[in-house]
Amino acid sequence: MSDIDSMHIPFALPSIGDDEISAVVETMKSGWLTTGDKCCRFEEAFANYVGAKHALTVNSATSGLHLALEAAGVGPGDKVLTSPYTFTATAEVIRYLGADPVFIDIDPDTMNIDVELIEEAINTSVNVKAIIPVHIAGQACDMDPILDIARKYGLVVVEDAAHALPTTYKGSMVGAIGDITVYSFYVTKTITTGEGGMVVTDNDEYAGRIKTMRLHGINRDVFDRYRSTVPAWYYEVVAPGYKYNMTDISAAIGLEQLKKADSFRKRREQIACAYTHAFSGLPLKVPVISRPDDMHAWHLYIIQLDTEATTITRDKFIELMFEQGIGTSVHFIPLHLHPYWKERYGFETTSFMTAFDVYNKVVSLPIYPSMSDNDVDRVIAAVRSILG
Ligand SMILES: *Cc1c(COP(=O)(O)O)cnc(C)c1O
Repeated sequence: MSDIDSMHIPFALPSIGDDEISAVVETMKSGWLTTGDKCCRFEEAFANYVGAKHALTVNSATSGLHLALEAAGVGPGDKVLTSPYTFTATAEVIRYLGADPVFIDIDPDTMNIDVELIEEAINTSVNVKAIIPVHIAGQACDMDPILDIARKYGLVVVEDAAHALPTTYKGSMVGAIGDITVYSFYVTKTITTGEGGMVVTDNDEYAGRIKTMRLHGINRDVFDRYRSTVPAWYYEVVAPGYKYNMTDISAAIGLEQLKKADSFRKRREQIACAYTHAFSGLPLKVPVISRPDDMHAWHLYIIQLDTEATTITRDKFIELMFEQGIGTSVHFIPLHLHPYWKERYGFETTSFMTAFDVYNKVVSLPIYPSMSDNDVDRVIAAVRSILG
């Protein structure tokens, strides 16, 4: 075994190059570190990239989801529909506002919300205000029926697009579909700013409210204060807002990362194709593509072990991969199994049976642009040696 073969392949790694490093150094030397010109430029470039009217930088997708629901008017006693098959951030923001999530089980192939179950959930709940579809792994949810139901019942559609840059649905870019769409630039996501997020919308009112609430409920951001003809020291607080703004240091990284979003995605797609091709005949289900013409962001490559055709359990599989020097992960531990959600709503393991079944079979394999062909071959060889 050569040195390179024995090196650990981490589950995820950011792709940071000299462009990002120079951009950060340049920003540090400029004297303006917090929200300013770099954030404005990142917002303009991002709005243009996804085809939305407004893009607003925030310090995380969690903050962005919170601001989106606040702008949508979600408050105490309201309900928000979402899937239990997600990261807790999607649902915790509903609780921040004193509202409660109504979880809807998933489609076993895509792990996205099961659109067949949405109307029943609306009809058996009161005060449903919004729905948060989560585009798992970077494959779009079936947005047409979601939008139809949302219009029929007057729900605001807030998309959790933490995995979905860039993703399309029937020719439209995610970001130009629902009412508000939220992206994550956390370090493992498809582009990163270390920590960060973006909220996009075509709606002027939502954009205005989010802009105000992301910075203390002040009606203009700090940068504008130094640019406008109104005295520089003057500002007005119109609500008890939050401290959710992005720094220019992060935005400088984001501007460089966004330029590479397409080439990053192409590399991830190549890796996904190599995996799917190499795994045929093994006792596992490769990611199911619901609409071949959609662009898949390939943030995650999630396999489902065929637990009827192999005695290797998911946990054992992960252990054996680790022994071969390969990091993996599990997306997701369904929310209804976590103590907080389970106890608050009295869920049973079986409350969301599909989510629970899928959870017991899934493993996410490494998929990121800096993986070499040799890394990809090693992952394939390891999977084949364990399941072949
Ligand atoms: C990562 C993630 C988030 C949270 O993103 P942050 O930027 O870390 O707040 C939300 N939803 C999903 C589905 C995620 O994977």
